Amino acid sequence: MMLPITCPLCGRESEFPVEALAEGAVFACPVCKVTLTLHGHMWEEIKADIERLKEKEGGRPGSAGEAPGV
Ligand SMILES: [Zn+2]
Repeated sequence: MMLPITCPLCGRESEFPVEALAEGAVFACPVCKVTLTLHGHMWEEIKADIERLKEKEGGRPGSAGEAPGV
């Protein structure tokens, strides 16, 4: 499953495998070569995009059992 992420530096959209995206993971833009650690509000936005993508892909409802930490 690939998630399009818009680079905050150059504004180009690139696709990254969802499996590689986690809090603290490094996002590397193939266009401008910037590397960013996913945390804070950028990670919050990506996390929300991943959730939306999973819902769109019709994932197994209720099987994840992952409760929000807060
Ligand atoms: Zn970039």
